[in-house]
Parts: sequence; structure tokens; C-alpha cells
Amino acid sequence: MLKREIYSAFEDVVGAENISEDPAILESYTRTTRGVSPRTEAVLLPKETKEVQAIVKLCNRYKIQFKASSTHWGPAGFAPGPNAIKMDLRRMNRILEINEKNMYAVVEPYVIGAQLQAELMKRGLNCSVTGAGANCSALPLAAHEGLGHSCQSMSYGERNLLAVEWVAPDGEIIRFGSLGSTGDWSCGDGPGPSLRGIIRGHVTPLGGLGVFTRAAQKLYHWPGPSIFPIEGVSPHYAPNQIPEGFMIRYISFPSIDARFEALRKIGESEIAFQVMCFAPSMVAANIATNNQEDMEYLERISKSVQGPGLQIIVAGNSPRDFEYKKRALEQIMEETDGKSLELMEDPVIGGGQLWRCIRITGSIRETLRATGVFGGVLGGFDVLSLMLEYIKQVAPLKADLMKRGLVLDDGAIPFGQPVEHGHYGHSEMLIRFDPKFKGTPEALGQLAGEATNIAFNGKYGVLNSINGDERHDKFGPLASNYHLWLRGIKKSFDPGGASLADSHITVKE
Ligand SMILES: Cc1cc2nc3c(=O)[nH]c(=O)nc-3n(C[C@H](O)[C@H](O)[C@H](O)COP(=O)(O)OP(=O)(O)OC[C@H]3O[C@@H](n4cnc5c(N)ncnc54)[C@H](O)[C@@H]3O)c2cc1C
Repeated sequence: MLKREIYSAFEDVVGAENISEDPAILESYTRTTRGVSPRTEAVLLPKETKEVQAIVKLCNRYKIQFKASSTHWGPAGFAPGPNAIKMDLRRMNRILEINEKNMYAVVEPYVIGAQLQAELMKRGLNCSVTGAGANCSALPLAAHEGLGHSCQSMSYGERNLLAVEWVAPDGEIIRFGSLGSTGDWSCGDGPGPSLRGIIRGHVTPLGGLGVFTRAAQKLYHWPGPSIFPIEGVSPHYAPNQIPEGFMIRYISFPSIDARFEALRKIGESEIAFQVMCFAPSMVAANIATNNQEDMEYLERISKSVQGPGLQIIVAGNSPRDFEYKKRALEQIMEETDGKSLELMEDPVIGGGQLWRCIRITGSIRETLRATGVFGGVLGGFDVLSLMLEYIKQVAPLKADLMKRGLVLDDGAIPFGQPVEHGHYGHSEMLIRFDPKFKGTPEALGQLAGEATNIAFNGKYGVLNSINGDERHDKFGPLASNYHLWLRGIKKSFDPGGASLADSHITVKE
């Protein structure tokens, strides 16, 4: 429990109704999408930047740590434990600007992807939404990497980030990019100071480097309807038609090499709005509305595909552009022996899947529906072929657990995705399991260790799951000693160690 004097000081900042140490409230913040964390001392709900700043300054004065979260969807969004407070940013929920001419949007942390995207689509614009789901923050600094389904054509968090307002860990408000000089949000790098490379790399600092209170992100052209024509009631809701100028296909190939060649050609010709190398289990989970259906679809799809596959969405900017893209895809399929999955050509099934993937509403079906938890292996972010090779090496580890009956037998087929038409790539292996099943948590822990060792020994780059001192210290020497730079940044901007960095890096010598 906080000393009364400290509690009152926090209360003076946010008001009595926006601070709580009620055990029931605190307990609710201990539940995350990956488990339970210890209770924190208090939860505070600031409304604006100057309140965030005042809280951070008090934390520094009283030697208390803080951790801010946007929607708390992420496993790293947990409550920070003893001698620390949680900042829940849900009252900072405004879209501050949609600049149609210069194609950027400025949001506060509790604006979610679904909200921003809906507003943008009315204006013929779109944004990259995190693959975690449209229920997550639209702030380009909240999502872990900010990778999402549309990265092929709309890139990801780090690349889309423009100007930022940041309450640094010592309480100073820093406005960088063009915001720091001209007051406009259009550029992340100037004129004025650029700290984009300081505040994040390919992942964000996960609460370990102060609080991001507002940020701008780059927008893209949206060639589709301003509103999707949805019918039905959840979970049986979907558009009643595929919008004109859109097409979705799931294409399977005779070999991994043939699929890679198709990916390369699709990227080179820039015909895809989205490309996701979903395994059949992921397609089935996305389409199905319950677990039973999920298994039925999995069997059906597994029997229909000839080998590794990819899901592609094509969007035409004009009827001529659409025809060209369709013809180019046909030619690529011919050259690589690609075969289209009939099920996805069904306008109802394909239409639903198209909508879920564009609006990013299917992820929860894929990850959490089966048992309420999910796990697996997160690859890094590098050259696509390297990332696909890494995850191929991890696949036998999952196959072994499936054989031993410890995790769901839904195929040990990895997932991969190209970014920016194949300039980069990322890969993952999704594992669904029952956390109460005897031996499963231990086996998964062992698998995670082995997968990390494969990345380390095979020099597959720094995995996106490398968080915390121990793991950064292990991988740093492999990658230009980046851990020393990260630690130096942390030390300079957070000399008091107030911003809780258990998912990032601490100032330890
Ligand atoms: C099922 C599932 C799928 C996922 N898939 C993806 C994916 O495809 N791509 C991806 O990038 N991530 C993914 N994640 C990881 C992560 O959940 C999301 O990136 C994150 O949830 C998105 O933002 P949020 O608002 O929920 O962040 P939160 O959960 O609120 O926070 C995430 C982290 O960022 C910090 N943070 C959040 N907001 C701020 C802020 N304003 N200032 C300072 N620190 C802040 C928090 O302290 C925390 O450490 C997934 C997670 C789950 C559970």
C-alpha cells in the first residue's frame, strides 16, 4: 500500500474518482492474455499529457516505478507489482487530427484500430492495424512490433511512425519530429530533433521508456467502400458481398520453394494488398465460428491443399488496375503451379474472411478461442527467406509436442508474412494448448528455450520475443552489441529507473 502522503499527491493530480487501490480493481489488472501478474499499488487514469507528466514526476520524487498501458491486450501490458503504479490511459481516447491532404492521423493511446480505420475509410484512407486485433490501440507506439495483416502494402509500426509527444521517464515532455519545431505532425524526423531511433527499434520499449501520449502515423489510400455491408449477428456476421474491385484467394503450392518464388513475384509486381502465409489451421480458425467447426474446416482444407499456401487479397484502384492485378496473379500461379482453394472462392466464406482480414477482427478466433490462451514461437524481423527458414527449423519442435499429445494437433506448419512487398519478412509458429494439461506448460517452456537457441546458434537475428535484461544480454553480442546502446539510452533518459523496464532493459551495470 502506498503511504497516505503519496496517495494524496497522486489523487491531487487525477482526482479521487480516477485513482484506485481497491483490491478488486487491482486484481482485475493482474490478468493478461498470457497469465497472471502480481498486484500493483494503485491504478491511475490520467486524462491528459500534463497529468501524465505530473504522475511521472511524483514517481521520480517518491522512488516509485510506473508502467503505462493503452488497451492492456498485450502480454506485456500487465500490472507492475509492488512499489509501482499502473497508468491506465483509457481516458486519453481522442482522434486529434485526420489530415487528408498530407495523409497522416494523430491519436491518443486509447483510440483503437477499429475506430481510426472506420473514420479513415469514410475519407478514402486506411492505416496499418496491428495483427493483434482492431481492439488494440491505434497509437503506433503501443503495439509490440505493429505488424499486421496489411503490412504488404501498408508497412508496420516503426516505418509508419511520424511526430510524437512523449513524457520521458524523468517527466520532461519531448515533442519530436516536425512537432518539435513547426508544431505540425507530418514528419517524424524533422525539421527539429528526431528521436525515432531512440524510442524504438523493430519493437517498442514495452513500457520501459516513459509514456507516449500522442503520435502521428502515415496513412494510405483505401480503394474500397466507406462502410462494409455487414449482415447477421456475431459470430455469424459478414459482408453480404465481396466489394467490387476486391478478390481473396488461398493458393497452395507443390513445395516451399514454389511458394517462395510466388511470394517473390507477387512482391515484385506489387499486386497484393495483403499476403499472409497462413497455415491451414489458421485459415480454418479464422473462418469457423466455434471450435467444432474449426476442426471440421481444418480437415477439409488440409485435404484440399497440395502443400504450403498463402492467402492473398487483391484490391484494384480502378477496374483496369484490378484486371491487370488479377491477370498478373493468374500468370504467377501458372508459373509456380499454384492452386486456388475452392472454399475461399465461395463469396460468403471468402467475403467474411476478406472483411475480417482487412478490419483485423479474426485474430482472436485464431489465437484465444480454443482455450482462452495461446502460445508459440515469434520469429524476428528480417529478410523474408531467413525468417521462413528459421521457423521451418522450429516446426519439428511443435510436431514432437503434438505427437506426445501435449498440444493441439493442428499441423506443424509455420506462418510467415512479407512486409512492404517482400523487402522484409516475419514468421511465427502458433501453438494452441490447454494450460492445465499435465506436462504442457513445462514442455512449452522447454520448446521456447530450444527455439531461442536455434535462433541464437543459427544467427537468425534477434527474435521479437527477446525482452528483459537476460535475453538482451545474450543476443546483444550477436547484433553489434545493441544491448549496450539500449542500456545507454535507458540510463540517459531514465536515470532514476522510474519507468518499469522488466519487458525492456534496465540500467544495471
Ligand atoms: C492474441 C495476440 C496476438 C498478437 N498479435 C500481434 C501482432 O500481430 N502484431 C503485434 O505487433 N503485436 C501482437 N501482439 C502483441 C501485443 O498484444 C499488441 O502489440 C498490443 O496489445 C497492442 O497494443 P495495446 O493497446 O493492446 O497495448 P498494451 O497491451 O496496452 O501495451 C503493450 C505494451 O506497450 C506499452 N505501452 C502501451 N501503450 C503505451 C503508451 N502509450 N506509452 C508507453 N508504453 C505503452 C505497455 O506498457 C506494454 O508493455 C499480440 C498479442 C496477443 C495477445
